[in-house]
Amino acid sequence: MEYFHKDINGQPIQLPVGKVVCVGRNYVDHVKELNNEVPDTPLLFMKPSTSLCDVNAGVTLPADTLGSCHNELEIAILIKSPLKNASQSDCQSAIWGVGLALDLTLRDLQSKLKSKGLPWERAKSFDGACPVSGFTEIHNVADLQALSFSLEVNQQLKQQGDTSLMMWGVYSLLSQISEVFTLLPGDIVLTGTPKGVGPLFANDELCLRLDKHFSVNSKVQGEK
Ligand code: ZN
Repeated sequence: MEYFHKDINGQPIQLPVGKVVCVGRNYVDHVKELNNEVPDTPLLFMKPSTSLCDVNAGVTLPADTLGSCHNELEIAILIKSPLKNASQSDCQSAIWGVGLALDLTLRDLQSKLKSKGLPWERAKSFDGACPVSGFTEIHNVADLQALSFSLEVNQQLKQQGDTSLMMWGVYSLLSQISEVFTLLPGDIVLTGTPKGVGPLFANDELCLRLDKHFSVNSKVQGEK
């Protein structure tokens, strides 16, 4: 099914579908759980537009995963105007809204690639690797750095995050990203995962929640 951006009521948002820029290691608790080093600049990588899918329609694990496929629940920022070498206040006015995304990661494959110093795309950028929710408009969000969000798997709390615990806040991230990659209308930025990553299995029931805003139920489908 072809992906398009939607609001939280499922209505289409009139923005093109672009790239996804992702931030790694933005929450110290998650950096520690994977025994990674705390970076001194944001760790950036990308998922192509073909990785996007609607989380409401379910999450599909890829075939031949060569090991586990992990959940990483993240706050997703939908961009509405171009940002290049942008100041933090320019970034503030370039946000359409806020949603939730899963940065699906083939963890065993990623570890293998990391140990060889090879790029991660096979582990993170495959078709369907970025299920996203609908987006709530930015004017509904009082403070981007005071958002609580959580992921339940089979009614068990797996991930609980709060944007106040980010190492780099959203405006700082967007500004730093825009020095490297021009952000265009319809691009999405994933802002990093808190701790609690772990393997997903076929038939797992997921509940993604952005406190005070919305929750989405989804289900993990078998391999495609
Ligand atoms: Zn991630």
